[in-house]
Amino acid sequence: MAKNFKGIAASNGVAIAKAYLLVDPDLSFSKTTITDVTAEQARVDDALKAASADVEIIKAKAAKNLGADEAQVFEAHLMVLADPEMSGAIKQKIADDKVNAEQAVKEVTDMYIGMFEAMTDNAYMQERAADIRDVTKRILSHLLDVSLPNPALIDEEVVLVSKDLTPSDTAQLDRQFVKGILTDLGGRTAHASIMARTLEIPAVVGAEVATQEVAAGVTVIVDGLTGDVIVDPDAATLATYQQKAADYQAQRAEWALLKDQQSTSADGKTFVVGANIGSPKDLPAVLDNGAEGVGLYRTEFLYMESDHLPTEDEQFEAYKAVVEKMAGKPVTVRTMDIGGDKHLSYWKLPEEENPFLGYRAIRISLDQTEIFRTQLRALLRASAFGNLWIMFPMIATLAEFRAAKQIYTEEREKLAAAGVAMGDVKLGIMIEIPAAAMLADKFAKELDFFSIGTNDLIGYTMAADRGNDKVAYLYQPYNPSILRLINNVITAAHKEGKFVAMCGEMAGDPVAVPVLMGLGLDEFSMSAPSVLQTRSLMKKLNTADMKVLAEKALDAETNDEVIALVEAAVK
Ligand code: PEP
Ligand code: MG
Repeated sequence: MAKNFKGIAASNGVAIAKAYLLVDPDLSFSKTTITDVTAEQARVDDALKAASADVEIIKAKAAKNLGADEAQVFEAHLMVLADPEMSGAIKQKIADDKVNAEQAVKEVTDMYIGMFEAMTDNAYMQERAADIRDVTKRILSHLLDVSLPNPALIDEEVVLVSKDLTPSDTAQLDRQFVKGILTDLGGRTAHASIMARTLEIPAVVGAEVATQEVAAGVTVIVDGLTGDVIVDPDAATLATYQQKAADYQAQRAEWALLKDQQSTSADGKTFVVGANIGSPKDLPAVLDNGAEGVGLYRTEFLYMESDHLPTEDEQFEAYKAVVEKMAGKPVTVRTMDIGGDKHLSYWKLPEEENPFLGYRAIRISLDQTEIFRTQLRALLRASAFGNLWIMFPMIATLAEFRAAKQIYTEEREKLAAAGVAMGDVKLGIMIEIPAAAMLADKFAKELDFFSIGTNDLIGYTMAADRGNDKVAYLYQPYNPSILRLINNVITAAHKEGKFVAMCGEMAGDPVAVPVLMGLGLDEFSMSAPSVLQTRSLMKKLNTADMKVLAEKALDAETNDEVIALVEAAVK
């Protein structure tokens, strides 16, 4: 019987496919006494072989999607599976204690895990404990004959259903097979949602009951335009959504005609519409969608997709590739924004009560200045190959900006003295913290540009965690409080002749775009698949009318009131 529920529409499009549940299966078992030792030992050999075959597939996929470094961890898993000492101990236990294979595996691996975990001052050994824990799950899944899901093992078209997705889970998804994403948790601006949009995979997040209501293998419809989810649809519903999916594709084909055009309003005012990227691998989508620049390169993914702090040369190659491919179009690179929901496997940050209010982004860079200097040198060297802008994330105070600029200037001077070629670089900050938005007039005197990061700005203004679906109702981009902060930044910047971009998700939101045009925003940067839709919308709107709309929106009382104002002005 069909079941319907709703979540948060997080990535446009309609997906219809069988559900693939990415949830931990029940791996519990009972201890039993066995009589046939040889048969039980053979079960262990079979399970180890099958587990190795899985890991080989996962490793090959990781190497292809994430690079050789990321695949290294699976090499460690294979070594554990092939370790004769471990398999010998398991078989010995079966022979000595006459216990079933599951029990022997558990006891032996627990012993190793305990031993490695006890070496608390040895990060390498701690990681080996994590490897053994992972591998044990896989061995047990084969002994118990239950499937242990992994995104890399998907080899048919599916809708992926899970409690939550981390940015690194999402990076492993293969677009060829993963047609849709459905999760219990998460908000529209969580990084996994942003990545789903970049990958153009329709997604509904924060649906709360998804993993409960959807059984593996059943057909599910994920409507990323409205947030509707239909499980096991009847023939009529299926036909309706197949039509909706086709209509959306036809709409995209129409937008594609605007690829090489400028982003100009009906009355001839030109805006810049850019795209956001997380790695050089995202560039084909930027170019295919006709973006006029990269408005945000989230460099922390370079750090997250590696198993060590990327060296200056590794970073230089990545930044150079991006500016070169963009061929003179502006590329705004944000210095690393680690912390919050973005972690590094090889560098454990201190545990914090409130990581989103804690040690992250520029706060880390100004504390660990060698890491910051390395990144700045790589960027400065890459600046010789294109049109590079640099911005600092999570700036709260002028002192932070001045300190960052000082370090930047020192590195620039050192490179210049060494005769290294560099281009002109524009320097700016992200506006993500209300304190900086309020003081934009002071900042504007000392920098070249602002880029408004509404994902965090809205979160910090409303005091609502962007990844928490329970407070998702407070993600209110059109709330006049948010619009006034944005207006404050644009007005202050323009007074000093400075440029204002927006790189938060709001920049590609069709309800926000008319108001932002009226407020005079210069650049709109968004997930690449939204670029052409935004350009198409801009062409229909008149800036004089949008100014009137923006005035009314600034004077409104609520988010909903602004939505109604936009609907009235744009129809
Ligand atoms: C933002 O906060 O709006 C932003 C663009 O940065 P991120 O989403 O990476 O935090
Ligand atoms: Mg941010």
